[in-house]
Amino acid sequence: MKSEHITGVAASPGIAIAKAFKFTNTEIRPTKTTITDTEKETDRFRAAVEQAKQDIEQIRQLTEQRLGAQKAEIFEAHIFLLMDPDLIDNTIDKISDEKINAEYALHEVASLVIGMLQEMDNEMLRERAADVKDVTGRVIAYLTGKPYATLTGISEETIIVANDLTPSDTAQLDLNYIRGFITEIGSRTSHSAIMARSLELPAVVGTESLLNRVENGATIIMDATEGRIIIDPTNEELFEYEEKKRQYEERRAQLKLLAEQPSVSADGVHVELAANIGSVEDVAKVLENGADGIGLFRTEFIYMGRKNFPTEEEQVQIYKHVLSKLEGKRVVIRTLDIGGDKELDYLELPKESNPFLGLRALRLCLSREDIFRTQLRALLRASTAGKLNIMFPMIAVLSELREAKRILAEEKAKLLAEGVAVSEDIEVGMMIEIPAAALNADAFAKEVDFFSIGTNDLIQYTMAADRMNEAVAYLYQPYHPSILRLVQMVIKAAERAGKWSGMCGEMAGDQIAIPLLLGLGLNEFSMSASSILPAREQIGQLSQQDWKAIAEEALTLGTQEEVKQLVEQKLAR
Ligand code: PEP
Ligand code: MG
Repeated sequence: MKSEHITGVAASPGIAIAKAFKFTNTEIRPTKTTITDTEKETDRFRAAVEQAKQDIEQIRQLTEQRLGAQKAEIFEAHIFLLMDPDLIDNTIDKISDEKINAEYALHEVASLVIGMLQEMDNEMLRERAADVKDVTGRVIAYLTGKPYATLTGISEETIIVANDLTPSDTAQLDLNYIRGFITEIGSRTSHSAIMARSLELPAVVGTESLLNRVENGATIIMDATEGRIIIDPTNEELFEYEEKKRQYEERRAQLKLLAEQPSVSADGVHVELAANIGSVEDVAKVLENGADGIGLFRTEFIYMGRKNFPTEEEQVQIYKHVLSKLEGKRVVIRTLDIGGDKELDYLELPKESNPFLGLRALRLCLSREDIFRTQLRALLRASTAGKLNIMFPMIAVLSELREAKRILAEEKAKLLAEGVAVSEDIEVGMMIEIPAAALNADAFAKEVDFFSIGTNDLIQYTMAADRMNEAVAYLYQPYHPSILRLVQMVIKAAERAGKWSGMCGEMAGDQIAIPLLLGLGLNEFSMSASSILPAREQIGQLSQQDWKAIAEEALTLGTQEEVKQLVEQKLAR
């Protein structure tokens, strides 16, 4: 049999060979058909409910074994919901009264319940809507013969194949079994891709029409370094990629030797190579890869994949843990950056037609001070455990920065008055993600301790190209002279004010961008943990003095292609 080759965007490097697990999390909308034998249809319905119940029970047991009884409780609640007499009886009545197929009847009954729950004032009840959708979706899947996938019960070596994965899907991946994932949509900067890099999990995204071409259980080779996928590989291909995988792992082992080395250029300029993280679990990789610190802790992931806001106490524990693990190395913790493609189930935000341009990140925090103050208090309370830097995302104008700083100062004063110890050594900085902030960097530099350039957003706003939209993905152009110019403005503004500048967008770990950024004088580069050692190796071979001149030359060019060519040419020498 011939293998099938597909290409996609290389989102997180590595090579994996395993069986495909198709994850279809989209709602199945059954069609209505008329039936004659209502008794037979009722039996079919009861059998599907029983199958779904067994599935959930299995997931419950697995979760209990792996993660403990408390984490497994949710599945007990699911069984309870599934067996709800109202749900079952109403569906059976509908089948008999209207002589319609079971899946359609259940879908109708469930939609009514879900709709009602979604209208409730009580948050707990509203959350139940998603649970009802989940359990009834599973039954409907059995009735329609379509697979109902869940990521929690996987217990063999698997590559996940999905249309898309939400950040909370990604957060659930069990790394004991999951070797990588492939999605039809998404880009290098979508959040599931970023999470994959921090988990060092191979990922290929943006493959288009993939689900139709892969059978569940088919063997897949994914070369996520090249963005290449081979479905049903031949023996020769398997042999070739087993060898590539071995070489890849060997190279990684070689790089690990640099973990203890300083980050210094060939002409002796010290820079900081820091890591981006999204959870406490990511810290192990940060230490393993010898990072000089943490340049971006995306705290929104603490708020995701759960049913309500994390409490102040919970957050204190998380921040303290990360700070103490870093043993005095700098940890930049970014305040909640929700909105855009990052949603919270329990925070009902008004629907916006342009969420990336809407009430997100700090804008949202300033409009929901309760949420913001809780996080700031937690950060301040944790601050004595290490070297804390607080960073505000998505600032466009000075008044936002001032307001955020004012609230921070208020919470600090309150804590001190309560006798709580707060570090006197906290640096406060901001992300530069909006062109307006880059253009006005001199004014901002006077009022912060540091900048961190968020190129994922800065590029999307400069190019007016949604970072989630495949059709305009070509406009993600980190080496474009317009982007380099903005970056230069920010670095220079920081220098003039005697502050330091960093970058925590994906560009900071990019091997074409790194030489230019070094030449422009960037002080700190924050990237996925897996990019740190290759970056340290590269910087060790570059002279900042040389790249200063090359970066200046790059700024005079007209296109990203020309810049890339220039860099490649100089690197090849
Ligand atoms: C960025 O925008 O570059 C960034 C680092 O933030 P995020 O990717 O979380 O939006
Ligand atoms: Mg951003």
